Amino acid sequence: MIDFDATNESIDNLKRFKEFVSVINNNGLNRVINLYGNYYSNILNKFGLNGYCSGITGGTKKRARLYKGSGGGFATKVYVPKFHNEILEENFRAAIQIYDQLTFSCIKCQEINDGLNRDSPNYPQFYANELMSQHSNFIHALYCRSNENAFIDNSSLIEIRNEMEDIYNEFGRNVYVLHLNKWVEVLRYD
Ligand SMILES: [Zn+2]
Repeated sequence: MIDFDATNESIDNLKRFKEFVSVINNNGLNRVINLYGNYYSNILNKFGLNGYCSGITGGTKKRARLYKGSGGGFATKVYVPKFHNEILEENFRAAIQIYDQLTFSCIKCQEINDGLNRDSPNYPQFYANELMSQHSNFIHALYCRSNENAFIDNSSLIEIRNEMEDIYNEFGRNVYVLHLNKWVEVLRYD
């Protein structure tokens, strides 16, 4: 399997990856590290995944067999904890206009939020501008990841699954949360 991306993979592939991690771990070879991972890899920590790498908020993925650089700059992405994923800045700016529950768990974002007038009709745009200018989206992603790590460490698989299911329903099963439904399916019988 090359170019594995847990947000786009089929349920079968996601299951296979989880089972692979479990089998290796049960044989005492707890040395599986995913070289390109996200929240799904973080959950697999429960099954023995030892670690994962991710180039958050920037050039996150390289094709394993691509020899030439493709040129062009990196697209700016914003980590959205509610989606357990990062999305392009332009999509984030659009999403925050639609979903007023799209607040962030990150400490710095909460500070930014506290300083803004939430009743203003321009609030979503102000919030997005402040987030993008006041605090780097890389640091933002690290804060969000650290909250996610704590949540996973302190929660059972059922709680982790329920949280994703709630988000999937809360956001009307839109395109930003489709992967959460797949991850729920993969974890349903564990
Ligand atoms: Zn933040």
